Amino acid sequence: MASYDLHCCLCGKDFDIFVQGFLKDEHKVCPECGGREVEQKFTAGFMTGAGAGASTGGVSSCSSHSFG
Ligand SMILES: [Zn+2]
Repeated sequence: MASYDLHCCLCGKDFDIFVQGFLKDEHKVCPECGGREVEQKFTAGFMTGAGAGASTGGVSSCSSHSFG
């Protein structure tokens, strides 16, 4: 079992799930709104980039949606 930190792009909810093996798209469902616009969160420790810029908060790759 492995835990994954996920972030819902639709409602902005952060949650974590436990899955066997690798994370699949079928796991990426928001428990709050049921949306599938879910991104996996990467902690700062996971990112081993050379960029020294200190970005606050978690990294989200959610594409900006325009509502209405
Ligand atoms: Zn959601």
